[in-house]
This record gives sequence, structure tokens and C-alpha cells, in this order.
Amino acid sequence: MKIAVLPGDGIGREIINEAIKVLDKVALKYKLKFEFNEGLIGGCAVDEKGRPFPKETLEICKNSDAVLLGAVGGPKWDKNPSNMRPEKGLLELRKSLGVFSNLRPAILFSDLKEASNLKEEVIKDGLDIMIVRELISGAYFGEKKRIDTKDGEKALDTIEYSSYEIERITKRAFEIARKRNKKLTLIDKANVLETSKLWRKIVSKISLDYKDVKLDYMYVDNAAMQLIKDPNQFDVILTENMFGDILSDEASMLTGSLGMLPSASLGKDNAGIYEPIHGSAPDIAGEDKANPIGTIMSVAMMLKYSFGMEKEARDIEKAVETVLNKGYRTSDIYKEGKKLVGTEKMGTLISEEI
Ligand code: NAD
Repeated sequence: MKIAVLPGDGIGREIINEAIKVLDKVALKYKLKFEFNEGLIGGCAVDEKGRPFPKETLEICKNSDAVLLGAVGGPKWDKNPSNMRPEKGLLELRKSLGVFSNLRPAILFSDLKEASNLKEEVIKDGLDIMIVRELISGAYFGEKKRIDTKDGEKALDTIEYSSYEIERITKRAFEIARKRNKKLTLIDKANVLETSKLWRKIVSKISLDYKDVKLDYMYVDNAAMQLIKDPNQFDVILTENMFGDILSDEASMLTGSLGMLPSASLGKDNAGIYEPIHGSAPDIAGEDKANPIGTIMSVAMMLKYSFGMEKEARDIEKAVETVLNKGYRTSDIYKEGKKLVGTEKMGTLISEEI
């Protein structure tokens, strides 16, 4: 399997090294072969190639079965014009690979319950929610306008969804729910938005092919509340682009630890981009302090969603859990009485558990 590896900026290189260490161990144990091809993206690509997503990197990605990404950005490039900003590289990567669904699990291991902002009686034994967000349509991509009117300047953003766009992500969300606890919640604003009404119509129609999955609906304002009140009621959440953007950040904060969370962005045929949800953390770059678990959990998602290797993915997840149960912590999740380790050591401990 060919994997494009794009470390990016800041802590990107450090966390990617540990994820590859884990993949190497998986390859050894299960007699697999991963071929890694490295490319530039973000600020380092601007410095070396004059653009945040160079042609060479696109070629590498297109010739790979999956993309593993670190993070991009940093103060050095903050004042660049928008087409020379590191983040532009990410948007170009997503667009060129046509990834339309973003999978963001919010996982809180029971041993890290104290990291959550919520009370223990709300969290109970931890958290495991999967948010499936539509990524390349809706308000962020619809027509935008500025018009002068007698009441002053007027701005317009358009939310557009076609049934095709809704169908393809809905099927994916049902497939994911089927492999988890078989519950899917569509989050929308169908009491006021026409697009939400179309989402409901299509999702309810597709649900007839997935009778083993329990489907329910919730308005987005209520969902924002329910995530805080009783997050364990959710298994898989399916939602449109803007609601997903907001709710996935809210859900990630319930876990209290940015460095722990993975994500996957999938297109057709399960081609995907896998990356931790955090940024390039320039404040700790090069200090062996970054938590590599978000990136390591991202490669577990890669094995599961792009390569169909459920057992191998579960092996990685279990290794992470075991290392946490043994009390090892990077500084972002450290509490007194636990064993403080750096990025490299954390990666080594996890790979040794596989
Ligand atoms: P950030 O996620 O990089 O950092 C926020 C805080 O969390 C920092 O204190 C950082 O040290 C800490 N942190 C983040 N990841 C960590 C990890 N793995 N282990 C331990 N601590 C960790 O967000 P920011 O500071 O707002 O942004 C820094 C740069 O990253 C900016 O240039 C921003 O544009 C960019 N960014 C990139 C992405 C991406 O590549 N997908 C996402 C968000 C931000």
C-alpha cells in the first residue's frame, strides 16, 4: 500500500515519525508492506517551492492509496497573502482529492476522564462519538454576494445541496454506523431551512436500506445542548458542512485533549486524507513535547477506512489504551502521579504494545 506522507510544519515532523513507527510495527506483525512517499505542504512548501501545495506533492498524493498529514502553519507565514498561506495548501489538497466526507471521532478513554470539562457523572465510562460532516458543499461553497441597497451594504451566502451530494455521504454514514453501535442521528434545522428538509427526505429514504441502524433526527440548536448534557446518547452524527464544523469542535472539547484526536477525510473509493485535528503547535515544536496519539489514531483510521484492515486498526487503538492505562502521559495530558514522557517515547511505547 502506497502512503503519501506530508509532515508539514511545526510539530508535524515529530508526530508523523511516531505514526510511521507504529505503521512499521503493524507491517512487521501482519507481514504487510507500506511504501511511504514524502511531499511538501504548507509553510515549508512555500519556502522551498514558492507555493503551499506544489505540483510534485499533488502527484505523490494522486499516486498513493492514502495520505497521512501532520499539520501546517506557523507565525512565519501569518502575514503572507492568502494564496501563499500554509492553510491554502490544505484546502487545495482536499479539493484536488475530492474528499467529501469528514470523519471526526470524539473519543475519551476512560483513563483520561479527568481531562474532560464535563463532570464524571455525565461522562460515565468515557466517550465515543463519530461525527460525519459533509465537507465540500453547503454555505462555505455556495454563491456569495455583496449588494448595495437603500439600507446599506447587504451580504449573501447561499446554502446549496443536491440530492447526489446528500446521498453519497448518507450512505457512508450508515455504513459507519453499521460497524459501530448502529445508531445514526441526522442533525439539521429542518424547521426553517429548505436544504435541511431535503436532507431529511433523502436520509429517511436511504434508511430503508439500513433497517438494522436506528435513525433519529435532531435540530442543531438542541444538538449543541445535548452534546453537553448527555453526550453518550450519540453514536454516529451525520450533518451538513457548517453545522459539522461547529459541532465537531464542540465535541472535541468534551474530550479535553486536542493532541489525542484523529480525523479522516474520504472521497470516492475510500481514498482518504488522515490527520490529527490539532494544528502545528509552533509553541512546542522541536521540543519532543507533542502528543503523537492524534496522529497514531489517524493511521488506525487509515487502516480501517482506506485499507479495510479492522483487526490491525483495533490493535493500534488497543495499544494506545494500554499505554494510557499504564500511566504514561505527554505533557498536554499529564497529571501528578502519572509518568511523563516525550513524543518519541510515547510512540515507542505504543509500537511496543502492538
Ligand atoms: P494548535 O492546535 O497548533 O495549538 C493549540 C494549543 O494546543 C497549543 O498550545 C499547542 O501547543 C497545543 N497542542 C496542539 N497540538 C498538540 C499536541 N499534539 N500535543 C501537545 N500539545 C498540542 O492551534 P493554534 O496554536 O491555533 O495554531 C497554530 C498553527 O497551526 C496556526 O498557524 C494555525 O493556522 C495552524 N493550524 C493548522 C491546522 C492543520 O494543519 N490542520 C489546524 C489548526 C491550526
